[in-house]
Amino acid sequence: MSDFSERVEAIDISGIRKVFEAAGEDAINLGLGQPDFPTPEHARQGAIEAIEAGKTDGYTSNKGTASLREAIAEKHARDNDLTVPPENVIATSGGSEALHIAIEAHVDEGEEVLFPDPGFVSYDALTKLAGGDPVPLPLREDLTLDPETVEEHITDDTAAFVVNSPANPTGAVSPPEDMREFARIAEEHDVLCISDEVYEHIVFEGEHRSPMEFDDSGNVVVVNACSKTYSMTGWRLGWVAGPEDRVERMLRVHQYAQACASAPAQYAAEAALTGPQDPVEEMVSAFQERRDVLLDGLEDMGLEVPKPKGAFYAMPKVPEGWVDEVLERDVVVVPGDAFGERGEGYARISYATSMENIEAALDAMREATAATR
Ligand code: PLP
Repeated sequence: MSDFSERVEAIDISGIRKVFEAAGEDAINLGLGQPDFPTPEHARQGAIEAIEAGKTDGYTSNKGTASLREAIAEKHARDNDLTVPPENVIATSGGSEALHIAIEAHVDEGEEVLFPDPGFVSYDALTKLAGGDPVPLPLREDLTLDPETVEEHITDDTAAFVVNSPANPTGAVSPPEDMREFARIAEEHDVLCISDEVYEHIVFEGEHRSPMEFDDSGNVVVVNACSKTYSMTGWRLGWVAGPEDRVERMLRVHQYAQACASAPAQYAAEAALTGPQDPVEEMVSAFQERRDVLLDGLEDMGLEVPKPKGAFYAMPKVPEGWVDEVLERDVVVVPGDAFGERGEGYARISYATSMENIEAALDAMREATAATR
């Protein structure tokens, strides 16, 4: 057999896989990064009606349908106070593809990409696939990314840095002043800021602001998706927005890798974005209740856990062997080092699951804590 590319040999299937494989069939899964709610009815209907009207049989424009991009532009105005023209948006196959084309279009061989550690698994892998050098950055005690840390690590070889708030795997939410700083750093050092905002609506404390709001230099691109906000991970619909030149370069990658995002998903996304937003509010308040129960439980065990202000993850510091002890009790949580070296000694617990599961999982965690103390 002929050999493989060095780039693909440099990456591996995500470490999250290992815990899923270790768990039994009836395990309680607190490892999943997706809401446990159905996609809102009006979003499903959007797809059904488009399919029945025969609108989804062919390719759409590479960038996505005009009406979806219009809906995304309106969403940016409504939620983010941003003027993003529809032509500056590319609908992608989830936030994952949006991250891929953003990195691919901006990173040359040997150039550096800075990102939070622990951070979402794709930043490191996509940088390597683009031939770049990953530079994982340490976080503050509260698990937010300090703009000063970003600035200190910028070199002549830095192509981009990634900001992710609310964050996976930490649940940390960056304050508006940090977002302003990220925009300033992107401008002053002339590097790209990729802002991954897929959890923007899942905020319990503080507020979500985009660095693009503070950007005058054209050095910020925003990655977003319907996946988490509308419980649409299976639909595979995200987008990237940015200045015209950058969008044109990202479109080159998207055109050859993807042609266009799935047409039925585009119609569902349009309906999700333009329809009633109360399902989002209901989901977010359920997440907040679950977070509070989980946090109380973890704190009662004596575990140190920075209070997650958004997304649906908590990241406590845990004793050695704790994750394995929890897994042995048929509860899946993800070891922190699946998200970067500095995640070692932490565990990521997703509370995108029922209160009943959280209560049962807390029992297992209490035993695991007693066993590893
Ligand atoms: N960005 C972050 C921070 C995520 O956690 C995820 C998914 O877990 C993604 C992007 C990708 O989302 P999608 O399912 O839309 O590809």
